[in-house]
Amino acid sequence: MSEILEKGKDNSNCYKPGICEQEIKINRPPFRKLRRFFYRNLGPPRMPGSFSLGCYLVERFPERIPFTKYASPNYYTYYIPPFRTRAYKRVVLQGLRRDFHLPSGPAAVTLSLTERCPCSCYHCSAWGRSKGGEMDTQSTKDVIRQCVDMLTGCIVFTGGEPMMREDLCELIEYTTSLDACPQLFTCGYFLDEESVERLARSGLAVLFVSLDSPYGSEHDSGRGVDGLFEKACRGIRLAVRQGISVGISTFATHQFVSGRYAEKFFHLGRQLGVNEITVFDVTPTGKMLRDEELLLTPEEHDHLCQIQEGQYARKDGPKIVTMSYVNDTDIIGCFGAKYQLHITHNGFVTPCDFTPLHFGNVLDEPLRQIWKRMREHPEYSKKLVPCRMQDMSFRKKYIDKIPDDAALPYPIEGQGGHL
Ligand code: SF4
Ligand code: SF4
Repeated sequence: MSEILEKGKDNSNCYKPGICEQEIKINRPPFRKLRRFFYRNLGPPRMPGSFSLGCYLVERFPERIPFTKYASPNYYTYYIPPFRTRAYKRVVLQGLRRDFHLPSGPAAVTLSLTERCPCSCYHCSAWGRSKGGEMDTQSTKDVIRQCVDMLTGCIVFTGGEPMMREDLCELIEYTTSLDACPQLFTCGYFLDEESVERLARSGLAVLFVSLDSPYGSEHDSGRGVDGLFEKACRGIRLAVRQGISVGISTFATHQFVSGRYAEKFFHLGRQLGVNEITVFDVTPTGKMLRDEELLLTPEEHDHLCQIQEGQYARKDGPKIVTMSYVNDTDIIGCFGAKYQLHITHNGFVTPCDFTPLHFGNVLDEPLRQIWKRMREHPEYSKKLVPCRMQDMSFRKKYIDKIPDDAALPYPIEGQGGHL
């Protein structure tokens, strides 16, 4: 990536060095050891009820929690529905039921609406997916209804580029009518005054716009679309103005860490008025499925953990949520088949967006049945594991065995699993 850096050509929205450098410094958090001790011994998923108790406490005393109070007062994080909504209560109840081994579903479902997309990202996680068979409006609504029946709180629309679906606003309205929290991940290509207004009117709760770099030229090269960074930033501003809760989603590479991109995104997020920045780990999947050399080192993970923990010491936002921190086994571990699942545009059900292994198709059988099978699978019934897609033993057992020419997602039964 470094050869394509042309930072001199950055456009007006890019991170501008020199402004408030002191201000954007991520502070060293107090009580780091204590916080870790708490999670390691008492946090979810170790202690039954701790997830729901945590949800109850942040809802009850948001003003006591700087991470919540100053960054986005209605949410602890955008990945959990806003406080005091039915969707939030459903997630709390769902956590309790899960802890006491009663039937319950995932807290969040990411639902890919299409594999179509105007970009050609070098890192595309949806690359290689079987083509065609996009679910129609009625089937998609039926899937959303099944998720809500399983106590899911957030329905997260992804792609491809979900804004290429003409019925997107109808699906958002439908999700809202079921008292679930509709969220959207987009590259920002189609964000303009009219589309943002329509999204706001349909009840979109959270909009995440993907930015790979705080430098416009680097982002555009990686996505294969000139001017996309500018468009995405403009879209963010419009959405903020419309009152939508807006976040930036990005991913950490070796360059991200060495170039201190998190701090730069923090500053860019402030300029744009977003409240939350999600930093995924670069994960070998999709187009990069075999590129394991990209995996972050333990030191890089630790750096990213400290970035999120540093936010606990601040009295303002945007908050930064790093995958390195939340999926650490000292915190919550892998979310797949525990707190979330993913459904592809043509109905295949996988543990998450990044895992190219499916457990069945929701067009063939009820989602509840597939979820149960997933939860009972020997790999996914483990209580606390790190990100499976970054774990070499998991990759050796399941990912390396996927044939190079296979359409993704690949059936986990093809790996000697149990369907
Ligand atoms: S990563 Fe997203 S925006 Fe990029 S090509 Fe893939 S689906 Fe499109
Ligand atoms: S494997 Fe687990 S931790 Fe990794 S991306 Fe998927 S859900 Fe997240």
